[in-house]
Amino acid sequence: MRVLITGAAGFLGSHLCDRLLAEGHEVVGMDNFITGNPQNLAHLAGHDCYEFIRHDVSNFIFVPGKLDAVMHFASPASPNPNSPYGYVNLPIQTMKAGALGTHNTLGVAKAHGARFLLASTSEIYGDPLVHPQEESYWGHVDPIGERSVYDEAKRFAEALTMAYHRFHDLDTRVVRIFNTFGPRMHINDGRVVPNFIKQALQGEALTIYGDGQQTRSFCYVDDLIEGIYRLLLSDEHRPVNIGNPVETTILEFAQTINTMTQNEGLKFEPQRRGEGDPQRRRPDISRAKEVLDWEPNIDLVDGIRQTIPYFREKLSLQ
Ligand code: NAD
Ligand code: UDP
Repeated sequence: MRVLITGAAGFLGSHLCDRLLAEGHEVVGMDNFITGNPQNLAHLAGHDCYEFIRHDVSNFIFVPGKLDAVMHFASPASPNPNSPYGYVNLPIQTMKAGALGTHNTLGVAKAHGARFLLASTSEIYGDPLVHPQEESYWGHVDPIGERSVYDEAKRFAEALTMAYHRFHDLDTRVVRIFNTFGPRMHINDGRVVPNFIKQALQGEALTIYGDGQQTRSFCYVDDLIEGIYRLLLSDEHRPVNIGNPVETTILEFAQTINTMTQNEGLKFEPQRRGEGDPQRRRPDISRAKEVLDWEPNIDLVDGIRQTIPYFREKLSLQ
């Protein structure tokens, strides 16, 4: 296949490029570097099956030559208002990437007769009242809160994707990604994994927002990419949760990071509840197991062990 990947210079997009190339496909990467990093793709320069187009997906997209698949991953993805890369600080760009960017990438897929895969998110469930979250849950989302620029853009993106599927018969897929971590996350994007590892490696107290009793379920990037690749090859048009169902409190997670890095100290800061920080999050992955025969294999400690060297190197270069 020849595959267009938007958000290619980001954390997940760059791993996706690597995986598709490793499977023998051709990749056209697209990014405007708003939260991504050209370094994530530097190793692909000169690769025979890889090309890159610098472009903002909010504007009309033209890709010469044939395309067999379009994977739309371009969007800021960190909720942290303390980071310049957080979508709260890029609100209009985030809505445009999710809304106009999805419209444009669906248009490209339609023009090429290509299959389409949308990177959606567990955030479409909002601060969920149903636990764990299965795909049939409609969510509990604040339409005007700080996170709404991301959540509602992704909900619009899912609706538009399904409209193209139903009305234009486009061959679409929707992956609902739960918290994923690994090498190539932006060290300053403010998400909990980069924040904690960076603080631990610098010998600082880890910042916990609130009492740390809120939960997340963390998936290592290789497991996620495997699930997404299987979804791309499948005929599943319904949304599919991909994530690791092992749930941990943020406090337990901080203690794990401190133990693994022989660091000490926690610093409690005001909880981001006012900003819609979900209290609990865990994917129900029954559908992924059933239709993709997929489940994660890498546990949290192994994943963190594989991630720390990346951040160590980044810090030494800063
Ligand atoms: P990231 O910030 O590392 O990557 C996003 C990439 O998209 C960046 O390279 C950025 O420059 C690019 N981008 C943003 N707006 C763009 C635009 N208008 N035009 C072109 N490029 C643009 O984030 P990530 O974690 O890799 O997330 C990738 C996708 O996965 C996003 O759509 C995100 O919503 C989704 N997702 C990620 C997670 C996670 O845990 N990592 C969870 C749920 C959903
Ligand atoms: N968090 C934290 N300290 C940090 C960064 C995040 O306690 O330095 C918390 C945050 O409030 C949230 C959880 O960790 O409850 C996960 O946050 P993240 O920004 O990674 O993404 P989210 O899952 O909220 O989209």
